Amino acid sequence: MSDYREKSWWLETLPETINPNPPLNTQEKADVTIIGGGYTGLSTGYHLKQLQPEMDVRLIESDICGYGASGRNGGFSMTLFGLTKGITKFRFDDEKAKAAHLYMENAVDYLHDVITQNNIDCDYERTGYLLVGTSPGQVKRVEHDFEIMERWGLGDVERWDRDRLAQEFNTDFYRLGWFEPRCGILNPAKLARGLKDLAENQGVIIHENSPVKRFARKGGSGFVVKTEKGEVHSDYLVLATNAYSVLFPELKKLQYPAFTHIVLSEPLTSEQYEEIGWKNRAGIEDARDLIHYYRLTKDNRIAMGGGDVSIGFRTDLDKDLNEKTFAHLKRHVTEVFPQLEGIRFTHQWGGPVSVTMDMAPVIGYLGKARKAVFSMGCIGHGVSMTTTNGRAIAELITGRQTERTEMFFVGRKAFSWPPDLVSLGIAQAVRGFMRMEDRLYYR
Ligand SMILES: Cc1cc2nc3c(=O)[nH]c(=O)nc-3n(C[C@H](O)[C@H](O)[C@H](O)COP(=O)(O)OP(=O)(O)OC[C@H]3O[C@@H](n4cnc5c(N)ncnc54)[C@H](O)[C@@H]3O)c2cc1C
Repeated sequence: MSDYREKSWWLETLPETINPNPPLNTQEKADVTIIGGGYTGLSTGYHLKQLQPEMDVRLIESDICGYGASGRNGGFSMTLFGLTKGITKFRFDDEKAKAAHLYMENAVDYLHDVITQNNIDCDYERTGYLLVGTSPGQVKRVEHDFEIMERWGLGDVERWDRDRLAQEFNTDFYRLGWFEPRCGILNPAKLARGLKDLAENQGVIIHENSPVKRFARKGGSGFVVKTEKGEVHSDYLVLATNAYSVLFPELKKLQYPAFTHIVLSEPLTSEQYEEIGWKNRAGIEDARDLIHYYRLTKDNRIAMGGGDVSIGFRTDLDKDLNEKTFAHLKRHVTEVFPQLEGIRFTHQWGGPVSVTMDMAPVIGYLGKARKAVFSMGCIGHGVSMTTTNGRAIAELITGRQTERTEMFFVGRKAFSWPPDLVSLGIAQAVRGFMRMEDRLYYR
């Protein structure tokens, strides 16, 4: 097991040192095996046991639960599906883009319920989410998004003009915004560990420190999942490995890992906090292609993320750190809030997000029998979504038909990325185009 604390400040803030669950070193049987202990896997396990308590469910995690994106993200519980509303509409159609947005609204509300009803201690604050335009190009985008949401009849999104923004923040940087009150911010690692407790209390058996080496279909029916010293035989298999799915030949081409980065300031003094405004504490994103996302933590540090992404060879999962991006993000804090000139930064980290070829999430099947389910492609918008996706996967496995299992991205075909070098070229070209657009139009 690597030192999980180095992977993000959130993981460092976990109240107790983690004593990982025993690894899988024996031969076991289960009804369902889940590979991956992020939100997707943990939520799937929890919901399976809720729907069918007698089911034998085992979850196998290579490190500790929450080690992946779930323990490192920005902690925005938000409604964005895929990369942008425009791309989702272009790829599918207006009706599906609206359905996706409504799915995400429900996902945000559902995560709120899961956290509050189960008293998950994850510093959750229902602060809302603010998309801001900070340049003429971005203002057009914010207007466009707002028009789409008005047309869809979404009542609880507010348009914030420059005057309103000036009441809320002491910065000249913001020109136009829309504000969505239902969204929230949280400590992502505490959420992951809270979901682990919830799943275990429900009866899911979790093995940590157990990298799965391979899985295979058994002769008759079912699957065998192998770690170095153990194996589980089960009827159903759930692949909840997100960006790490590149490690399995069966999933390798269905998505591509991209890395996003975050820097964290020291806690603001009460004077600094007064000076910048931000009393609403909303999670904020700007409207560039390579967005900046930023928020306050419980102890009033600023976590600033995004600005660029790191892309490597498909199976290169060692791209957490990028000094150039960290420097850019630190500069951006004082671009937005010049009052904070001289502020110090204490932490920086990154993590992988999963990108499908068409930039849209997918819950899909491996094989015609529909007994192996995978979920991937939430990009940087998976905090609320994966919790609901886990619920949807549990409903699929237990044979239920719900508004979630009927969504257009459930059971859809995921396009394969081309061979490794071509994929790398495509991913770099897309990032290059985004960087150029940001320089020319959205800066
Ligand atoms: C820096 C960053 C910022 C982000 N910010 C936000 C945000 O603010 N809001 C938002 O909505 N989304 C955000 N996201 C995206 C969000 O974090 C993800 O969509 C979500 O956490 C995905 O959850 P998951 O369970 O599918 O995957 P993961 O959390 O990545 O879980 C996959 C798990 O599989 C395990 N695993 C891998 N290989 C194996 C193996 N061989 N055997 C066993 N286990 C294995 C890993 O250790 C990991 O724990 C961000 C992501 C990053 C990286």
